[in-house]
Amino acid sequence: MIGEYTCPFYHNSGKVCGKTCMRPEGCSYHWKAKIRTPCIECCKPTGSTSGHCPLHIRGYYVVQYYNRLRIWSYFCGPENGKESALD
Ligand SMILES: [Zn+2]
Ligand SMILES: [Zn+2]
Repeated sequence: MIGEYTCPFYHNSGKVCGKTCMRPEGCSYHWKAKIRTPCIECCKPTGSTSGHCPLHIRGYYVVQYYNRLRIWSYFCGPENGKESALD
């Protein structure tokens, strides 16, 4: 049934959306907005749980990779106790 609920989300203007919708979570626009987290780099909405849009997800994985390398070389690497030369 359409119009069972009213969307509880607030617009940027501070006014409540109030659109009638089928889900208690809100109208389709705001419901989708809720499950999409903005990219922490550029604030573009993204569905990925890592919080990065496709453009920045690459950089994110690269950073993770280098962090792992750095941690590994810190504990196990030949230059034990030294910052790795990766930076
Ligand atoms: Zn809404
Ligand atoms: Zn981004």
